[in-house]
Amino acid sequence: METCYFCRKGILEEKKVTVDFRWGTKLIVIEEVPAKVCNECGERYYSAEVSRRMEKIAIEGKKKKIIEVPLVKLPVMSSSAV
Ligand SMILES: [Zn+2]
Repeated sequence: METCYFCRKGILEEKKVTVDFRWGTKLIVIEEVPAKVCNECGERYYSAEVSRRMEKIAIEGKKKKIIEVPLVKLPVMSSSAV
């Protein structure tokens, strides 16, 4: 098992996390990012490949001038409401 390099006592767990990048009012949210998360301090570790891809998405997002990405889940509709 891998221990956290940051706090040196937590254990790293493989998880899918949501990462958000912000520059002023701009926000980009990337979901389902594979990361190792410390169960003690919450520090996240990304593989070189993952950070490279996130960087690419962030750079492209900046160019596209995305202001906000609302993350709203569509409520489940009951069959009687249709
Ligand atoms: Zn830690």
